[in-house]
Amino acid sequence: MVEVPDTIACEGCDAVYDKPELQPRDVARCPRCGAELDRHSGDLRRRILPLTVASLIMFAIANLFPIVEIELQGKSSQTTLAGAVQVLAQEGMSLVALLVLATTLLFPLLQLCILAWLLVPLRNAKRAPGFAMLVRAMQALRPWGMIEVFLLGVLVAIIKLSSMATVVPGPALWAFMVLTVLLTAVLSFDPRGFWQVEFDPDGEQAA
Ligand SMILES: [Zn+2]
Repeated sequence: MVEVPDTIACEGCDAVYDKPELQPRDVARCPRCGAELDRHSGDLRRRILPLTVASLIMFAIANLFPIVEIELQGKSSQTTLAGAVQVLAQEGMSLVALLVLATTLLFPLLQLCILAWLLVPLRNAKRAPGFAMLVRAMQALRPWGMIEVFLLGVLVAIIKLSSMATVVPGPALWAFMVLTVLLTAVLSFDPRGFWQVEFDPDGEQAA
């Protein structure tokens, strides 16, 4: 889909429209198929940076503290999510390990980092280096960065580890619960909103 600055293409039926003028909380819909074309994101963008930073902190806590206690060959030890993924791989479940690693670690971390990278300079109406490429990358990654995918990864990890592991009720578990709530808000942010940003003319040089 090629997006010319002043037009917008419907994701439902590929019809092209002039970009609508939107007020806060406005949502534009395709008159032909009813799919969402665009929504005003000014307020959301201001709220999304603190949520992104909080998510990154929770992400660190969730992954630095042990989340499960695993019993292997009669020995039990506590391990982090990354450690649990390693155990899955060692037990011959490489595909499951890869799925869990991608959905619970790689995709959310990548999205949070890109968001923070784009949003921090935006506070001063500055364009982050690689702006257009990263917004397109976020749009492409979006189906993999949904909260449902994250939860599916967590669920698969719990099911696959349930025979040899128990959940440790510590900081990592609480951080994961808070992270789920935060990610639900952060990942619902549509990267298309970035195209509406008006930059300071001085900020353009950084692009
Ligand atoms: Zn349509």
